[in-house]
Amino acid sequence: MEVKSMHFKANASAALANAALRGKLKSAKGTFVVKRAEAITEVDDFEATRAAAAAIRSRVIDNLDLWLERFERKALDTGAKVLWARDGAEVCRLVTEIAKRHGVTKITKSKSMLSEEAGLNQALEAAGIQPVETDLGEYILQVDGNEPPSHIIAPAVHKSLDDVADLFHKVHGKPRKTDIPALAREAREVLRGHFLSAGMGISGGNFLVAETGSVALVTNEGNGRMVTTLPRVHVVITGIEKVVPTLEDLATLMRVLPRSASGQSISNYFSILTGIRRAGDLDGPEHLYFVLVDSGRADVVGTDFHAILRCIRCGACMNHCPVYQTIGGHAYGWVYPGPMGSVLTPLYAGLENALDLPHAATLCNQCGIVCPVNIPLPELLRKLREKQTERGLRPLGERIGLRLWGWIAQRPGLYALGARIGVRYLKWLAGDADRIRVLPLAPEWSRGRDFPAPEGRTFRELYAAGRGSRPRA
Ligand code: SF4
Repeated sequence: MEVKSMHFKANASAALANAALRGKLKSAKGTFVVKRAEAITEVDDFEATRAAAAAIRSRVIDNLDLWLERFERKALDTGAKVLWARDGAEVCRLVTEIAKRHGVTKITKSKSMLSEEAGLNQALEAAGIQPVETDLGEYILQVDGNEPPSHIIAPAVHKSLDDVADLFHKVHGKPRKTDIPALAREAREVLRGHFLSAGMGISGGNFLVAETGSVALVTNEGNGRMVTTLPRVHVVITGIEKVVPTLEDLATLMRVLPRSASGQSISNYFSILTGIRRAGDLDGPEHLYFVLVDSGRADVVGTDFHAILRCIRCGACMNHCPVYQTIGGHAYGWVYPGPMGSVLTPLYAGLENALDLPHAATLCNQCGIVCPVNIPLPELLRKLREKQTERGLRPLGERIGLRLWGWIAQRPGLYALGARIGVRYLKWLAGDADRIRVLPLAPEWSRGRDFPAPEGRTFRELYAAGRGSRPRA
């Protein structure tokens, strides 16, 4: 998928002006946040479970090569084939080759963010193979002209019921439905034919289990099971960081994933798929392929940003992020939105291609508080900002300003004098008003907000006055 993160500011401005989008985000946020808060109270000690989940993910990432080799050996024992892809282009090439080798012309897909990263649908279509998205949200986006998802677990969260009703009426040519069950039934009827006629199914993988060579899939719609068991060929596409050591570890992670994602104790469907169809099995693929994708992940191992590889793609950070909740996912310009996307996009797509994303956060730490694997997202965003400044990627004025501020901040007398002059200047600027409409040195910043007028004295002066002493430099 093309990276459009360089246009973050323009995208965000457009999203802010879209009142309908903000209404949809507001109602979705309420559902996710409230349900998660309720669901975590069901676990006796959620913080301890969260720490255990984080420890499992850290153990894997610290020895990723070892766990991947163990997974590969076990998967091969079950009759699967394991392929390695360096990047999205290689994913597209490998999957197209598999489809052609097995004479496949139609592929059903359950949700896979990696296939979005790789732009797989476009590559398959170019090769004359029809990909059919079967997750309801992804299906809506596909029939609406391959629109990208705006949330990692609710891809069509930016669409309203009316939007979907109009869309289905147009593309299916059936009477317009006005309620969700009727629309879902209509999509199911259309998809049923595809499920029965597809020669290959593509799924993502929430986790790969090294102990058994299995893939674990967490879904709510049942489409994942149809995609992975009906066609002759099943291809799992997933990042190399998704491996977990044992089934017991998987059970721990499953105590935090659905609760953090959709506020469910357990998802409607949870599948652990191991190997190809054996004699006597009623269903299952004759051929199973794992395409394990690097695409920048290996370069993150052992760096300051190592912790982001613990991510289990629950979406809780974006559900609780005031920035995501105001502008939605498309503004971030790539596959992964919200705080995790603001860390992942610069790492995977290049810092210079996502200049504003590390700054697309208030650093309020809501994301860090809710992350089920304790990823210190605000800290990672701050480190990315440092890297940008070190590499000279921020605007010159900003870099000079920060250097100047750093120099002054190391000289307390000068700092106190500067603060006194600044506060008095702002007070003069405000006059009798309690707000300043336009800040002369930051007109852009104050274009969308007012600056509260200061009291007229610095904190040091007020503090000293309260103690009856003179302010210290
Ligand atoms: S960073 Fe944490 S909260 Fe965000 S999607 Fe990943 S696991 Fe979930």
